This record gives sequence, C-alpha cells and structure tokens, in this order.
Amino acid sequence: MKITRMTVYHVNLPLEHPYWLSGGRLKFEVLDATLVKIETDEGLTGWGEGTPWGHTYVPAHGPGIRAGIETMASFIIGLDPRRLLDVERAMDLALPGHLYAKSPIDMACWDIAGQAAGLPIADLMGGGSRTPRPIASSVGAKTIEDTRAVIERYRQRGYIAHSVKIGGDVERDIARITDVESIRRDGEIVLYDVNRGWTRQQALRVLSSVEHLNVMVEQPGETLDDIAAIAPLHRTPISVDESLVTLPDATRIARDGIAEIFGIKLNRVGGLTKAARMRDIALAHGIDMFIMATGGSVLADTEALHLAATIPDANCHAIWACQDMLTVDIAGGRGARNHDGHLHLPEAPGLGVHPDETMLGEPVAIYQ
Ligand code: MG
Repeated sequence: MKITRMTVYHVNLPLEHPYWLSGGRLKFEVLDATLVKIETDEGLTGWGEGTPWGHTYVPAHGPGIRAGIETMASFIIGLDPRRLLDVERAMDLALPGHLYAKSPIDMACWDIAGQAAGLPIADLMGGGSRTPRPIASSVGAKTIEDTRAVIERYRQRGYIAHSVKIGGDVERDIARITDVESIRRDGEIVLYDVNRGWTRQQALRVLSSVEHLNVMVEQPGETLDDIAAIAPLHRTPISVDESLVTLPDATRIARDGIAEIFGIKLNRVGGLTKAARMRDIALAHGIDMFIMATGGSVLADTEALHLAATIPDANCHAIWACQDMLTVDIAGGRGARNHDGHLHLPEAPGLGVHPDETMLGEPVAIYQ
C-alpha cells in the first residue's frame, strides 16, 4: 500500500465562550485547525487533524502545520502508511523538530492502518480498554463566583473531571483552590492547572498553603528546571504538561522524580507514535496520565481517546476534549461524543470518525 495523495484543509473553529489561560494572560476565541486527508493506492483514506490551542499557548501555530506539511510532503508520498515508524523517520528526516506539524500525518496513517487491519486504533496499538473515560472540563481563570458557575455548567453536561485554570495571583489562587475543594463532590477529579503562570516563589507560597487539601497541580512553573527546583520543597503531586514535549523530557521527568503525572497532549508531542513511548515511560515509573487533545474537533478528541484506552484504567485519570467548547461540528455528531461526561471508544476500524468534507471549504494544498 502506498500514499498517493495528501489534501490539506484549513478550518477556523470558533469557541463558544472566549477563553483566558491561567492568570488571564492569553485570550482565545477561534482555533486554527488543519485537517489532512491521506489517500492510498488501495482505496483506503485516512484523516488527521492538527489544532494548536491558539498561537500563543505553546510553540506551535496553525500556519506552521501547513508549512511543515508542505516541507515534508515529498518525503511521505509513496510510503506505506501502515509502516508508522517509516513515516515517522521520514518526517523527522525531512523536518527536525516541529512535532506539532507531524501529528496530523501520524494520525491519518494510524487511521489507515486501523482500517487495513479491521481494528480500532487502540486495539491495533495493543488493546483498548472499553471503560468510558471521563472528560475533563476546562475552567478558565476567573473569580470564585465564575469558577463555580463554569463548573456547574459542566456538571450539567455530566462532567466529573475539571481542569481549573489558576496562576498569576497568589492570594486569588489560594482562595479559588480552597473554594473549589469546598464544593468538590465525591468522585470528582480536579486538576489545578497553572499553565506556567507562577514564578518559583509564587508556586511555593500557594503549594504550601493548600498542602492540607491534597490536590493535584499541573505545570506550576515555566520550565522543567523551575518545576524540578521546587519539587523537594513541597508535597503536592505535580503534572507536567507544556514542558513534556520530547521523549528525553519524559525520561528526565521520570528519572529525576520531577512529577507524578504526565499531561500528554497529542499534537504537542507529535502524535500517537511518539506519545505511546511516553505512555510506556510513565507506566514503567509509576507515573499516571491525563491524555489530551491539544484542541480541535471531535477527530482530535477521538485520537486522544484511542491513546487513553491503551492505558490501564487505574493510571488514566481523564481525557481533555474540546468538542463541547466549539460552535462548529465538522463531523455531524459522529465520533467519540460526550455521554454523561465520558467518551466511549468507537468500535469502527481506524480512527472511527471522518469529517464532512463539505464543512471544510476548498483545500489549501494538494500533494501527490
Ligand atoms: Mg495543562
């Protein structure tokens, strides 16, 4: 089987509510999505998506994905999409780094490989759990009252997991964590996500104040060095998200005991092939995981679910999915959808969902 053509689409995905990242630093209203259709000489077609969370969240941006695909295309046409490692090496040879640009191609190839094998991607990766995965909400940085209102809005949709964005103001962060813990229900999972918004002294002041509440905190500093420096000085379990990009990041975090949880965002780390290695590093070191679409449509959510399904139930806390935050649905209700706050693994071969091409407009590029 050979890849014969790649068709690239650019779609804007508006958010239902404007969204501020931790500390209110970064505002987002529309996500820049790249959809990639890969066709083969045997008639199978795969779809991938790359949707960074805005241009300012991490070093990844929508136009960069499309430029990266242009650079890599001639290295990929003609390869067998089922040979994921060949495709990965070809991309790494054509364009060192720029993992976020490779993720949609990796995803489309896994989709084709699954269809060729007659298996959902998770089963092709070695076996997918059918335990529904809780979806984590995303609660933007706001006042105590707004935080309660957003959590309640997600509870109405069945959510039992919440990623509450904090950071930037020590007193306000302590107050919001304390308040959310006071209303947290039995069985609810709350991750307090700083999104790099603390300096070391801010981190230590908040973490020491809330230690008795036994919470989990994500990305409490800008870099792995920051997070490592404060690790011996507090007792709160830490998730690393934005600073977990490459496999050497994962091995360093595991070896040095920098964090107890990996927040794996598939677009950021370069797709399922690379993320699966991080999963194995985590499991080998007693590190639990949150699996996340970086943003985007139900295609990205479903990709995240396939990886999450390959993690033992006890080690995968939740999935972050973006579908309930968008006003546009490019797949007409298909794919892994929120049912009572959970995603259920599709049983169809491959990814299990393709977009409506009529929703994508004209292609911005075709390579063949
Ligand atoms: Mg995060």
